[in-house]
Parts: sequence; structure tokens; C-alpha cells
Amino acid sequence: MKIDMEYMDDSTVCDSVSSLVEGCRLPVHMTGTNDWPLAEIISIKDVQGSKCYYVHYVDFNKRLDEWVTEESLDTRKVHFPRKDVGTGTGVSTPKKISIGGGGSVPPPPMAVISRPSSPVNNSELLNGNAVLAAALQKKMNRKRKGPSLDNEDSQDGPVPLVPAMPGPRQSGSMVSHHDDIVTRMKNVEMIELGRHRLKPWYFAPYPQEMVNLPCIYICEFCLKYRKSRKCLERHLVKCNLRHPPGNEIYRKENISFFEIDGRKNKVYAQNLCLLAKLFLDHKTLYYDTDPFLFYVMTVFDNRGFHIVGYFSKEKESTEDYNVACILTMPPYQRKGYGKLLIEFSYELSKFEGKTGSPEKPLSDLGLLSYRSYWAQTILEILMSMKPVGENEKPQITINEICELTSIKKEDVISTLQNLNLINYYKGQYIITLSKEIIQSQYKAMETRKIRIDPKCLHWTPKDWGKRSKW
Ligand SMILES: [Zn+2]
Repeated sequence: MKIDMEYMDDSTVCDSVSSLVEGCRLPVHMTGTNDWPLAEIISIKDVQGSKCYYVHYVDFNKRLDEWVTEESLDTRKVHFPRKDVGTGTGVSTPKKISIGGGGSVPPPPMAVISRPSSPVNNSELLNGNAVLAAALQKKMNRKRKGPSLDNEDSQDGPVPLVPAMPGPRQSGSMVSHHDDIVTRMKNVEMIELGRHRLKPWYFAPYPQEMVNLPCIYICEFCLKYRKSRKCLERHLVKCNLRHPPGNEIYRKENISFFEIDGRKNKVYAQNLCLLAKLFLDHKTLYYDTDPFLFYVMTVFDNRGFHIVGYFSKEKESTEDYNVACILTMPPYQRKGYGKLLIEFSYELSKFEGKTGSPEKPLSDLGLLSYRSYWAQTILEILMSMKPVGENEKPQITINEICELTSIKKEDVISTLQNLNLINYYKGQYIITLSKEIIQSQYKAMETRKIRIDPKCLHWTPKDWGKRSKW
């Protein structure tokens, strides 16, 4: 909002594209659509005598950012950046949020739990050089982590996944403005992973010699990257893995989960983080993977166990986080695998006898999946309840819902509020399930064909706190 005001004064008819600079805002033709949404020029480059513009569509997720040519620019009304505002790298992308479970549900009338607005730091990503420094700093900071960055209801822009390097970064000495621009732009054209060719969504600090290539070839089992298909083929001859390293702790039909220790399988864990960064905007890279466990979900066929998605989890979380980062690989999105990952993370928490919550911020897609998972899981519990006596309504406490689902109390409450289920009547809280809610729940559960079966989980939680070293 504030940024828009700053731009407003300076709307000008632009005489030619040559006067366009980084930070200008103007309507741009979004590739593959008929739309010309407002976009900001992030970078300009010369390609064989003609200019290319890297643009960010103001009201859209960064994954839609792209290079366009002059023909895609509507230069009739250009907002030039004000000098003292910088080049506008602080664009916030409002998220359009809807609540899962189908149907349009009005927002809660009042937030009973007041949430502090999250600190926003737009320079959340780092280039390769600063990554290591940040990781080391993060290791130092981990034990004294700041307050929870709980912004699931906010409209904030990028927030670092962890409050990495508070000291140096606040002074601005660690990440230069140039680095901000570099890490805001997608740098990998294409990757090949198993039988999939994927176009990355976000920056990832692959080595410089890799990012200049038309495609990075990644071994789908050990996640090592190679610069050509030939090199990958040579690698595959030597690579014996046909599944992620670590222990297979779950298998049902063709779905498996592998648990990978970030200390014991450091190279794999680092390569997994690197790969995931291509599709996660907020993720602060940690080359220091020691404190994390990685749970990789695979589907099995006669060629091996193919990675579908993963989540990472701190071995010890002081904040009851049960997920640090979570990603479903793009070819497997919108097929129910994201929910399966989430369901598995809560199943682990149930085995631990704890409630848990994902670390914030969640990506836009992650937030949608979680909200929908919470709603479906809580409604499943509520709808299965039987009355205690005749003419009696079933009764349940919030704490009982938490115990049954391992969903953290705050998330249970915010879900009940988002679904608008709680009413206050004659001195007590009453949950009312409307016909619409019940119908949309039945419909939603019909589409969730694959579920986690706790009987297929062979796992004993470790108490990492008791060990002097991981
Ligand atoms: Zn390999």
C-alpha cells in the first residue's frame, strides 16, 4: 500500500522505452495470458542489441516473474521510481487466500487471538557467497531464536524462514542491494529430474557454471547435478542408489517415506535443499543441515523410488515446530500428495505424543494446503462424534481436538474461527456445523483417496536433547 503511494506522484507518459529504468512500474503482457497486469521492472539486459526486461507482476507470486521483450510493455503510463525509494525491491505481493474445504467462507468476525504483525525483511535470500556466512550465523542464532514468526493471517511479503543473521543484515553490510536483485531473479532455465523437465520458480544458488546452462541434469536418486545429459548418464552408471539414502520408515502400496539425517547424509541433504529452493521462495538455505531430519516421500515403480516431495524437521525444536520446509515437486502437485506429506508430519508428532505446527512463513501454496488439511482433519473429528446421552449434544474440548490430531492449539482455534464454526450461546461456546460445511467436507474427503496408515509407520522417536551431539 505504502509503496503504491510513493509511486503515485510520478505517473508519466513515457516517450520511449529507452527511458525505462529498473524500478519502473507499467502494464506488461503476461506470457500465456491475455492480461496486462501492473508489473515492476527488476532488471534490464541487452541481448544482441535488443533489450530484455525482467518483470515482477505486482499482485502475483514471484514464480510468475519473467523476462519479456519491448513488445510486452505498455509504455503509455509508466510510474517511475522516486529516487529516495530505491529501485523498489521491497514489493510486497499480497496473497489471495481462500480457505480450504470448498465454498467461500467469510473471514472470522474477530480475531480472538491477536497476532503480532511479523517482521518483514525483503532481503531474505542470499547469493552463494553469503550463504555459508548466513548458515554459520544461523547455527549461532538457533539456540536463541526470536519470537515465532507467525504470520499466517497477514498479507506480508517475504519473511525469512528463520531470522538468519540479525546482526550483520540489519546493518546492511552483509547483503548488498545488488545481491537482493540477483537473488530475486530466477537463475536456472530448466532442470531435468528423472523423467521430468521442470522450469524453476525461484532463485537457487547452484554454482555459477551450472546456472548459465540451458538445463541442469539432476540424478533423481542422489540429487547430484551435472551439466549435460552425457555427464548424467556417466554418473548413473556409477550411482547405485535407487531410493533416497537413510531408512525407509513407511511403506504402503507404492508410497514410501525415507528418513534422512542431515548430519549423516550431508551432501544429499544439501542437494535436496538446493533443489527445493528452486520451488520455494522463502526458504533460507542452510548448508548447515546437521540439526535437521529430512523426510522424503517417494512413489515406487520398476525403475526405483521417485521423489515426490519432502519436508525437513529440526531434531530439537524449542517452538514445537514439526516441519521446517515442505515441498511437493511440481509434477506431483494438485494430486493430494501435499496433504499426504502434511498428514505424515502430524503422524510423526502423534508418535512423539506432541502437538506441532509448521515453521512460518509458509509459502502461498503451503498455507492453502495447511488450512485445508486443518479444516478437513478437525471436521473429520467433529463429524465422527457421538452424543453422550439422549437429547445430548456431543461435547469436545479444544485440548481434546489437539490430542487427537497433534495440531497445535493456535492452529485449531484459528481453523475453527476461519470456518466460522464457533458461536457463543448462554455462557458457553457452541460449534455449529451447517449443511453446507458438512456437504463440502464429504466432497473434500472423497478426493482424498490416499491417506497415511499409521500401521505402516515403523519408527521410534529419538530424544535428540539427550545426546550431547547429533
Ligand atoms: Zn546419483
